[in-house]
Amino acid sequence: MPDNRIILHVDMDYFFAQCEEREHPELKGKPVVICVYSGRGGDSGAVSTSNYEARKFGIKAGIPISRAKKLNPDAVFLPVNMELYRSISDDIMEILRGFSDIVEQESIDEAFCDITGKVADFDEAKKLAAQIKDAIRQNVGLTCSAGIAPNKLVAKIASDFQKPDGLTVVKPEEVRTFLEPLKVTDLIGVGKKTAERLNELGINTIGDMSKLSIGELVSEFGQAKGAWMKQASQGIDTTPVQEREGTEQIGRITTLKEDTKDLKVILDTIDRLSGEVSGKLKERKLSFRSVTFIGISTDFKTHTKSRTLGAPAKDAGTIKRVANELARDFIVQYPTALRRVGLRVANFSGEKSQMTLGEF
Ligand SMILES: [Mg+2]
Repeated sequence: MPDNRIILHVDMDYFFAQCEEREHPELKGKPVVICVYSGRGGDSGAVSTSNYEARKFGIKAGIPISRAKKLNPDAVFLPVNMELYRSISDDIMEILRGFSDIVEQESIDEAFCDITGKVADFDEAKKLAAQIKDAIRQNVGLTCSAGIAPNKLVAKIASDFQKPDGLTVVKPEEVRTFLEPLKVTDLIGVGKKTAERLNELGINTIGDMSKLSIGELVSEFGQAKGAWMKQASQGIDTTPVQEREGTEQIGRITTLKEDTKDLKVILDTIDRLSGEVSGKLKERKLSFRSVTFIGISTDFKTHTKSRTLGAPAKDAGTIKRVANELARDFIVQYPTALRRVGLRVANFSGEKSQMTLGEF
């Protein structure tokens, strides 16, 4: 089957650490290390992400925090602030949805877009990707790397090819020469054990791998995996880009004109955001089951309040009412000035689900 698609993969650069740099501009230029503490006290836990300054000291994802502190005791060590990253991620995914009809969020900081219907060829695709990168930079303040290719497999490898702030285009006729020199582990799906076995067989690059016969691969790695490896090493991948059930959410976050704890200002803003969110839902014919109010205080901390409805709803009235109640509850609980406020709905179901008003 000829692959006539044009697929874009967007991957945020050192995402968690870049989010922290954005929230705390004084961190720029310093080594920043985001840590997942195990909860067993002290420095027990692992590094989740580090910025490029920290990487110069050998501090990278997965190493123990204690080791990172030995590598550079002066680096800035911060705990994961998932709510902040999630709210920034929502903003990014919304931007992507503005440019592409089909967006598959792969993780908090990565997404595939099928832009086949949006552009005539790969040159136009490159221009579109540059626009998307600009939009993310201007609206969210972060850099990302993008890869464009005829399928998801190659697009994802391409987005990782030049980092940070990269843009790599691999046209259909370039796929084989692009993949050939890369290490077998660069082929997404080839794990460490498989790579070790391949290396033992003298297979080091994707090009080497593509020269093995399907029979050789199958006898070594089994039917399903062997067949996949033969295809993948030739840059063939037909998996579609599709929205993932359950991971999706629609949100809007805005910066207030000035920091405030004035309930009226906050509720007016929430009303406006409710209208925007329900417009998006209507366009995509979705019902939701959860509503989240997001408040970012002047110290850049992100606070949220969520409610799950008893039944799916799709009307603007429900969003507005629930968001309004959550915002009121929030202000009572945290009488703190807010810098940004937002709203997010999730737990979607499609058209088929009945349209019931929320029962709480
Ligand atoms: Mg990333």
